[in-house]
Amino acid sequence: MITLRCATTNPGKLREFRAAAAHFGHGNIAIEPVQGLGGLPAPVEDGQTFEENAVKKALHYSAYAEEPVFADDSGLEVDALGGAPGVYSARFAGEGATDAANNQLLVERLRGVEDRTARFVCVVALARAGELLGVFRGSVEGRIVDEPCGPHGFGYDPHFFYPPFGATFGMAEPARKMDVSHRGQALRAMLAWAEAHL
Ligand code: IMP
Repeated sequence: MITLRCATTNPGKLREFRAAAAHFGHGNIAIEPVQGLGGLPAPVEDGQTFEENAVKKALHYSAYAEEPVFADDSGLEVDALGGAPGVYSARFAGEGATDAANNQLLVERLRGVEDRTARFVCVVALARAGELLGVFRGSVEGRIVDEPCGPHGFGYDPHFFYPPFGATFGMAEPARKMDVSHRGQALRAMLAWAEAHL
């Protein structure tokens, strides 16, 4: 059994990581949070790219665990907004902004704009004892719709229309989204690497 530690205690993220391990793995990878994570100093997420932030977090927390540690950073890039909100996705409408506030700002910024193309991006970095083992990236193309749709997911999902589904990510069941999503792709690549090399 391979144990990977994740740099989050967020129950939603932990659930997604474990679901990915069950979905893409072969039953030989266990995912546990870094022990005592809440009491550890947190790195400042000040990178200009998803890679920088994910690598910084993974390297930082890997110093506090025996097993390899992975960290992710993700967000939405909207072409007509020059790639915004990007690394600022969680706080697009300000520090501590709600999903509703971020989504409202997104719709406002795109008022009257025809080009709606956008993508979700996720980067997962894996490190052990201060050494970077790998960086895994996933992205998924869609377009932003004004009307939110669907009860599933979080963040910008209700506004992210994914053409192959003919629906927003908010309308997709979690396992169906994981199959194609940015996070699913990055996690799948990381899990395959871990199975092959650890
Ligand atoms: P972080 O990766 O925890 O820093 O947060 C990234 C932010 O990007 C989230 O708070 C969401 O606003 C947005 N985001 C990332 N992935 C998704 C997704 O799968 N669906 C909807 N929003 C997402």
